[in-house]
Amino acid sequence: MTAKIIDGKAIAAELRQEVAKGVEALVASGANKPGLATVLVGEDPASQTYVRMKRKACEEVGIESFGHTLSADVSQGEVEKLVADLNANPKVHGILVQLPLPAGLDEEAILRAVSIEKDVDGFHPINIGRLAQKGREPLFVPCTPAGCITLLKKAGAKLEGAEAVIVGRSNIVGMPAALLLVKENATITICHSRTQDLPDVCRRADVLVAAIGRAEMIKGDWIKPGAYVIDVGVNRVDDPSAKRGYKLVGDVAFDEAKEIAGAITPVPGGVGPMTIAGLLNNTLRSAQRSAG
Ligand code: NDP
Repeated sequence: MTAKIIDGKAIAAELRQEVAKGVEALVASGANKPGLATVLVGEDPASQTYVRMKRKACEEVGIESFGHTLSADVSQGEVEKLVADLNANPKVHGILVQLPLPAGLDEEAILRAVSIEKDVDGFHPINIGRLAQKGREPLFVPCTPAGCITLLKKAGAKLEGAEAVIVGRSNIVGMPAALLLVKENATITICHSRTQDLPDVCRRADVLVAAIGRAEMIKGDWIKPGAYVIDVGVNRVDDPSAKRGYKLVGDVAFDEAKEIAGAITPVPGGVGPMTIAGLLNNTLRSAQRSAG
């Protein structure tokens, strides 16, 4: 059996188009253009690239972006003051603090300083807390895990009652993905570096989400035949034949897994594009809410 390849690029492009239309309609109604403020601290090249990509994506759908770059030795108070100013700025509907922050800054306090109404990354402790509570809804859901759920639904996965295994328990991917799957009425198992017999646990999964950061760790024979496999991992491996000298691979050994799974996301072109599309969508929703 060869798995259906879940085309995250195409699904994200559809979502971006919907966002562009939503922005147009909002502006036509006389409301402010949606605005996203990015806060980048330090000079981490990967973070700089992510912020640049996010700002470019905003432009493409008509969202205004306000870039703020602070030096790595900025004080906690200065970052919190910037966040407070952005909270008060009516042109800003979403605030994105690019993670990870340099050592020495209190990430939790900075994320807590973001108004929950502008928390388009969904990382504010109140939004995460609501995600964890039955019958409560967060104002925003973290974009990467939300993208995983959208991909599963678009691929036709039946989540209610499904046995879902999430490998990884980080605050930004694994744990919120697990909480979202519970909200979809799946039965979940969360795995991490101390999990015993990981291959056996994975073999139980109707839905397997890999968010580990270890190149091709999940092998084909860890996968239940017909399972839906969502590969969040993005890992660089040397490839002398590639122009850049490396290629990107996921946490799942794709070539083996696609022979067993029912549906699988590729890397690149699976979950990655959904993350930015989700951010744009959250910013539009915030602007719509603020316009009443
Ligand atoms: P973290 O490093 O924060 O978390 C990794 C998780 O994997 C941890 O829970 C860790 O366990 C677990 N883990 C590590 N090694 C093993 C192992 N051998 N067996 C089982 N579990 C293990 O990573 P992130 O969640 O931030 O990111 C995960 C991957 O997703 C990365 O490749 C990252 O680049 C990618 N990513 C992709 C995004 C996208 O848009 N496509 C967005 C964000 C991330 P423990 O908790 O015990 O340490």
